[in-house]
Amino acid sequence: MRDTSVAAGGAAPLSPGPQQDALLAAVGQEIQDKGFVLASVDKLVNWARTGSLWPMTFGLACCALEMIHAYNSRYDLDRFGVVPRPSPRQSDLLIVAGTLCNKMAPALRKVYDQMAEPRWVLSMGSCANGGGYYHYSYSVVRGCDRIIPVDIYVPGCPPTAEALVYGVLQLQKKIQRTGSLYR
Ligand code: SF4
Repeated sequence: MRDTSVAAGGAAPLSPGPQQDALLAAVGQEIQDKGFVLASVDKLVNWARTGSLWPMTFGLACCALEMIHAYNSRYDLDRFGVVPRPSPRQSDLLIVAGTLCNKMAPALRKVYDQMAEPRWVLSMGSCANGGGYYHYSYSVVRGCDRIIPVDIYVPGCPPTAEALVYGVLQLQKKIQRTGSLYR
């Protein structure tokens, strides 16, 4: 039987676009021919997860404007299943967009702790990555990874909306490559 498992056999991770279309066509054919599909559960689950990343937006400064831009019609992150949520309890991705100051750090940690596993963190921009312009400021945390674990860093000041979209696509690949049922 043809292998229709997601990113089968540890091959290159599945990316949205032609590769994903080819997989869906193969699955459709399999169902038509035999009435069922064989796939390994963890790969199937990870594929489903990457198609429904719901970010808890954490806009802290100027970078947040580019993040908002990425959600709007020109870049339309929705087409990758990325739909912003207003609650950590509905989210599995935390996008830290902007300058994290000392006063905000406990709130960031609290929001992260309120998110259910599996959860991922994307750090957006120089400030979130390492303090940026304010690296030597008395009031700024020198990188949000001092407070929570970060999966993907998007560089720039600010990163463009395209860069954020690229970062999300990289995270999807990382989940497919390294993900398992339990984190
Ligand atoms: S990285 Fe640049 S654009 Fe982003 S929050 Fe810091 S100063 Fe603003």
